[in-house]
Amino acid sequence: MSCTAHNHLSSCADGLYAAVDHTGHQAVGGMCGTVGPVGFSLGGGHGPIIRSHGLGADNIVSAKLVLADGALVEVSEAAVAADPSLADLWWALRGGGGGTFGVVVEIAVRRYEAPASVSSLTCDWPLNSENGAATPGRDLLEAWWSGLMQALPDEWAFFTIGLPAPIKNLMKDMEKYDSKTMQGLVSLEGVYNGEYSDAMLEDHAKWLPEARTDLDEAQNRVEELRRSSRRRTRS
Ligand SMILES: Cc1cc2nc3c(=O)[nH]c(=O)nc-3n(C[C@H](O)[C@H](O)[C@H](O)COP(=O)(O)OP(=O)(O)OC[C@H]3O[C@@H](n4cnc5c(N)ncnc54)[C@H](O)[C@@H]3O)c2cc1C
Repeated sequence: MSCTAHNHLSSCADGLYAAVDHTGHQAVGGMCGTVGPVGFSLGGGHGPIIRSHGLGADNIVSAKLVLADGALVEVSEAAVAADPSLADLWWALRGGGGGTFGVVVEIAVRRYEAPASVSSLTCDWPLNSENGAATPGRDLLEAWWSGLMQALPDEWAFFTIGLPAPIKNLMKDMEKYDSKTMQGLVSLEGVYNGEYSDAMLEDHAKWLPEARTDLDEAQNRVEELRRSSRRRTRS
């Protein structure tokens, strides 16, 4: 099902989410609540449900904008059918970037039925071992983006975040890493657009036979590094 949620300039992603949430729907928006739906959608827009429902730009239903000559126009499939001279503007708005073709004063985007809940997970990996000898985080990233992510069902979305060092106040369990040897951190942030259950996780892991090997290998390297780091500390 799809219908529209009107969203005015003062709104941010949090405003858009709140507007559709009370009717049991969800809309394509950014990860952070502060991202504005207009710049987001005009410029492409990636977010937690894009693998199921497309980019922000794919979800624009209509936009009302003020052009350089001061004219106020509304563009949509229907508007283009009525006035084919709007076709280029309608095409260009959906991905051409914010601030390029006019000032959008109102935008309508699709909304979708929402699942009862969503689940999220975060996995952190040291980027390099000491002196860059082993690269658990890099190996993980390479394996992840060269096939493992694509093998997951569309309800999953993942974001990769690179950090120079653990942020102790913001990230839990950071004490398990040796910040003197890790040389940075790779964080995989995952969102599953549906309810978590052990059965779901087990089922989806079957889609990733290689993932288990790669993740196990990376995990083993991390354990080795920790052990050797402890040995050095004791001696
Ligand atoms: C903390 C953070 C998290 C982010 N997360 C994501 C994410 O998850 N996914 C993602 O895709 N991006 C993300 N971004 C990038 C962000 O989505 C883009 O910068 C987006 O363009 C912001 O849109 P905005 O409406 O807030 O516009 P602004 O940042 O204010 O402006 C961006 C561009 O859009 C233009 N613009 C803004 N409003 C209008 C308007 N009404 N009419 C015409 N042009 C306009 C501006 O002129 C400018 O060129 C993130 C950015 C930050 C800082």
